[in-house]
Amino acid sequence: MAFSSLGLSKPLLRAVKEQGYDKPSPIQIQGIPAVLAGKDVMAAAQTGTGKTASFTLPLLQRLEKGRKAGANQARALVLTPTRELAAQVAASVEAYGKYLPLTSIVVFGGVKINPQMMRLRKGTDILVATPGRLLDLYNQKAIRFDHLEVLILDEADRMLDMGFIHDIRKIMAFLPKKRQTLLFSATFSGDIRSLAEGFLHKPVKIDVSPRNTAAKTVKQSVFEADKSKKTALLSHLIRHNDWQQLLVFMRTKHGANRLVKRLDKDGIKAAAIHGNKTQAARTRALADFKAGKVRVLVATDIAARGIDISDLPLVVNFELPNVPEDYVHRIGRTGRAGMTGEAISLVSADEVKLLQTIENLIGQTLVREQEVGFVPSHSVPLTKHNPNGNMPKRPKKPKKPKIKMAGTNNNANAQNKSNKQQPKKTNNRKPRRKGFGAKPKARRSSS
Ligand code: AMP
Repeated sequence: MAFSSLGLSKPLLRAVKEQGYDKPSPIQIQGIPAVLAGKDVMAAAQTGTGKTASFTLPLLQRLEKGRKAGANQARALVLTPTRELAAQVAASVEAYGKYLPLTSIVVFGGVKINPQMMRLRKGTDILVATPGRLLDLYNQKAIRFDHLEVLILDEADRMLDMGFIHDIRKIMAFLPKKRQTLLFSATFSGDIRSLAEGFLHKPVKIDVSPRNTAAKTVKQSVFEADKSKKTALLSHLIRHNDWQQLLVFMRTKHGANRLVKRLDKDGIKAAAIHGNKTQAARTRALADFKAGKVRVLVATDIAARGIDISDLPLVVNFELPNVPEDYVHRIGRTGRAGMTGEAISLVSADEVKLLQTIENLIGQTLVREQEVGFVPSHSVPLTKHNPNGNMPKRPKKPKKPKIKMAGTNNNANAQNKSNKQQPKKTNNRKPRRKGFGAKPKARRSSS
C-alpha cells in the first residue's frame, strides 16, 4: 500500500515524501480514509505507531477547504496531556502542512500566557493545546470555538490518568456539538469507552496494536539488582556497554535529580526532565539529548509522555512503574516506526509484584539477567505470567536468603558476602552477559 492510494492531496504527499516515509503504517492505512470521510474515529494506537500523521494528514486536507479562521477562532483543536506531546504534535503539523497555506499555534502552561494571547488574536486553523492552559486562555477570551470543525483528543488515556477529566468536560461544554471528533488512546479502558460514548458520534473503531503489548521490535529484559546498587549498576552498564543515548525512567522527580547528580559525578553527562523543571529547562534537556550533548535523559512518566526521539536505541527502567500500563508507554519510546530498540528494567526483589503485574499485562515472562559484581543478594523469582491478567499465585515459601535492606551494603566486602548468598539455580534464566569480569564462574548467581 502506498500513501498515494489513501486519497491524500499532492502537497501532503510531497511533505510525507520529504519525511522519508516509504509506506503508511497500519493506523495510517485505516485512519486516514476514515478521517477524510468525515467520520468520528476512536483509535487504540500506542505511541510510535505513526498515529500523529494518521490524524494530522487528513486534518490538514480537510482544513484546506472551507472558510479561514476568524479573529480568536480555531478551526481544529488538538488536546494533548503534556507540553512535550503538544510541541511534538505541533512540529508534525508544521512538517506535514509545509506546502499548504494553513496556520497552527501551540499553547501550553509553564510559559508566559501573554505572547500566546497575542498570537491567537488573528485566529488559527489548528490549535494544539494542553487542557489547563486552554481553559485559562478561554476564560480570558483569547480563544473561541464558534466555528470549530474538528476536535482531536490525543493520548486520551493519559489525560484521564493525569486527572484532566474535569477540564476536558469543561472544554467540551463550549465546543460546537456538530463537529468531527477523533480520540486516540493507547488502551481502551472502561473510562475511555465512556468518554467516547459521551463525545463521539458513531465512531469508526480502529485497533492497530494488540492491546497492552509493546512493539515487537523492542527487546525486553530484566536486570536483577539490589536496590541500593542500582545507581552503581547503571553507571557500570553505561560505561561497559558504551551506551551513548538512553532514556532512564524514575518514579519521582527527586529520584531523577539524584540520579543525574550521581551520573554526572561518574563522568556521564545526564539531564533530568520532570514537572518541577521549567519549560525552558525541559526543552533544553530534550534538545541536548537529541543532539547527543547529553548521554542520559532521566525522566518521570508524565514528563516523558509524548517525547519522540527518532532512533532512540535504549530505554532503562531504573524503577518499575506503579501502573503497569506505564511500562508499555515507557518502552514505547524505543523501537518506534519499525526500528529495533531495547528496554532494560533494573528490578530489585521488592519489585517482584510490580514485575508480575507487568508480565501479566504484556503476556510474557521477561528474561532475567545479572551482572558480574552486581549479583543481588536476593534474585527476582520467575513466575509464569497469567494470560488472564490476574495476579499469579505467590510462591509458597519466600526464597532464602532474606532480602537485604536497601542502603545497607555499599562496600566491596558486602558485595562479596552477598555473592556467597545466592539462591539456587533457577531454570529458564538466560545465560549471563558475556565477556565481563575476571572470573567467569562469578558471572551467574546460579553458577
Ligand atoms: P507517533 O506514533 O505519531 O508518535 O510517530 C512515531 C514516529 O514515527 C515519528 O517519529 C514519525 O515521524 C514516524 N512515522 C510516522 N509515520 C511513519 C511512516 N509511515 N513511516 C515511517 N515513519 C513514520
